[in-house]
Amino acid sequence: MHYQGIDGYVYNVLENEKIAGGGEGTIYAIQGNDKQVAKIFRDDKKTKDREEKLRLMVSKKMTDEQLEYFTWPQDVLYSIEGFVGYVMPKVTNMRMLTELYSEDKYDIEWRLAAAINVCIALEAIHETGQVCGDLNPLNILINLEENSAERCHVTLVDTDSYHVVTDTQDFRCEVGLGDYLAPEIQNKLTNGLTLRTAPLPTYTKATDEFALAVHIFALLMNGCHPFACAKQMGEQIQDDSSYGQMSTVQDSVVAPQPIENIKKGFFPFSQYKAGITIPISAPDFTTLPESLQKLFIRTFCDGYMNPTKRVSASEWIEALMPLWNEGFVECEAGHKHLRQSLICPICQVQEKIAHFFRGISNGKPPIDDPEHPPIEKKSGGQNRPPIASSSGVSGGGNGSGPVMPPDLQPYYDPEETKKSVNTIWKLFGATVAFLLLIVFLYMYVYTEAFNHYQQTLSGQTEMKNAPEICEGDLTQDIENGDLLVFYVESVEA
Ligand SMILES: [Zn+2]
Repeated sequence: MHYQGIDGYVYNVLENEKIAGGGEGTIYAIQGNDKQVAKIFRDDKKTKDREEKLRLMVSKKMTDEQLEYFTWPQDVLYSIEGFVGYVMPKVTNMRMLTELYSEDKYDIEWRLAAAINVCIALEAIHETGQVCGDLNPLNILINLEENSAERCHVTLVDTDSYHVVTDTQDFRCEVGLGDYLAPEIQNKLTNGLTLRTAPLPTYTKATDEFALAVHIFALLMNGCHPFACAKQMGEQIQDDSSYGQMSTVQDSVVAPQPIENIKKGFFPFSQYKAGITIPISAPDFTTLPESLQKLFIRTFCDGYMNPTKRVSASEWIEALMPLWNEGFVECEAGHKHLRQSLICPICQVQEKIAHFFRGISNGKPPIDDPEHPPIEKKSGGQNRPPIASSSGVSGGGNGSGPVMPPDLQPYYDPEETKKSVNTIWKLFGATVAFLLLIVFLYMYVYTEAFNHYQQTLSGQTEMKNAPEICEGDLTQDIENGDLLVFYVESVEA
């Protein structure tokens, strides 16, 4: 089917080559054009408003580099009858962000790379002055091809639903998934109001930053939603896994627990509420580097009352890049984790789960995690997911060009670690010996002073047996470390 663009260019849309379908329309290939695709709307979605919004978006020209991070509309399509759809950049080999939570092979290295690249893509949008709005995981695509040079590259899609604001008109983003909606929006959606009818502003840069922090949190915290929690019942936790893990598909603004917590500004990972704890599948908040804990608290707690306090995409990049550059270490069980995480978050979660099952099975042995594959020891950076694979969009918020993959830090070496552990034990032994020496010297001086005191006392009181008691039992008591007790009892006697 031939359709015409705004300037008269004719696109041959191959309606027998469907690429994807959705509630609003279908995406098709374009003949002789492997860089673009066409989205043709359903008849009831070919509205005047939508056409105007798309024409406005097309008039905002984006650079080729920017177009690698989001599928911004590039032309509006018309048939003889009028508006039918639009043309956008084609993305290939892209999967949903939530697939990163589906397999253990997507370890912290993949997830940190993804987190940084989501920040870079959102930063690219914000630099154009635009707002995403519905930044849910269905709209964030990632390249998960193991051997691709574009591995971990993130592209934001479904941009025709973005919240576009002009001086004269607001084209609302009218959709959103509740788990990613900032509290100021959630709290407007009452009394039958929707994203279409609630008073403006609804989506803003700050609401994008809220959703961004939800994604970063989930990526770094074993897929857990930052506002998920569980009820604590004595020793056991009644964990509702339906909200413990990130959801992929759900209706907008139906209220599972994270939504209630978002509305109330209760961030269970850092705030206390009686009888409430974090989901069993979540590592403790303190397993995150302190620098990140502060940024999450700023976004979820301080940002509740004051959304402008939320952490921007650029700030996140500045905080995450040092962790990437430091590299990763492996625990004894072979789980990779951030170098700054003092304990292994995966081991911690496994221990929590084992403890949970011990609780309900009265002491049966803990369940191991046989499905967690051993992590291949790597050297060099050849297999590392790239960060922001193309140039032109600033990283770190300084406009200084792309954030390219840094060289790999050397991985954990068992031999080196064994040597380090031996050295630590030797140092520990020497320290203990030195401390014991100090204690004995101290006791010796104390004993001399005590004897002197007793001799003086015996001349003044009727404690005739005191010196014998002291001399007879003192040495033994000193060896037992009971000098102080003996001394007090003697004086009282
Ligand atoms: Zn571990």
